[in-house]
Amino acid sequence: MAGQVAEQLAGLLQQAGSAVALTGAGISVPSGIPDFRSPGTGLWEKVDPMEVASIDSFRRDPVRFWSFYRPRFHALAEVEPNPAHAALAELERRGLIEGVITQNIDLLHTKAGSREVVEVHGSIASASCVECGAGYPHAELESIFDSRGVAVCTACEGPVKPDVVLFGEMLPPAALARAVELAERAELMLCVGSSLEVHPVAGLPRLTLERGGSLAVITQGSTPYDSAAAVRMNGDVAADLEAVLSFL
Ligand code: ZN
Repeated sequence: MAGQVAEQLAGLLQQAGSAVALTGAGISVPSGIPDFRSPGTGLWEKVDPMEVASIDSFRRDPVRFWSFYRPRFHALAEVEPNPAHAALAELERRGLIEGVITQNIDLLHTKAGSREVVEVHGSIASASCVECGAGYPHAELESIFDSRGVAVCTACEGPVKPDVVLFGEMLPPAALARAVELAERAELMLCVGSSLEVHPVAGLPRLTLERGGSLAVITQGSTPYDSAAAVRMNGDVAADLEAVLSFL
């Protein structure tokens, strides 16, 4: 049964003139990064992400913000991609998908070898001064913390913020425009590990459907697009993707 569905999805990938993957937190769960919607787990234990991870809390209390994020960013930088990331990189290598649109900030698609990675929520790769815009790659970040534990700009002493989209912030316009372009062009959108509920990513499958494209949804738990999906798989994301690859 699962094998038939995997074979069907492999066939859709081969037939599609253009395909793109859309990924969410679920693809990084096998790498040990918990989905923040899972209450009481790891990264978000005992905190309200809406409260800590907002631009207002960053501006109001950067000491608290960085005391939360500094160790987590360090830990996140050490995490390795899993076979689900590797499978999507392999699909791109074979020309079966154009790239990956992701909500994740963890850099795991790039680490796995994906080349076209559209990070609509930014990533931990860099940080920027909110006053003058000076950029700091992740490797330099640790050297600019002051005695309070706040990352401070070496040029203007303004507060430095990770280049991830916080609650209350706009999404990066260039990444969003590229995501829309890929979604509109796709004859197949392969959605992996996302509940497809967080906007604007939640609207991207709609763009593909409206242009006559089809959807494949691989994730545990329900999504608003389940009834519209041509293919629906809900096992382990890595096992499901490896099953698809076995038919290609
Ligand atoms: Zn600055």
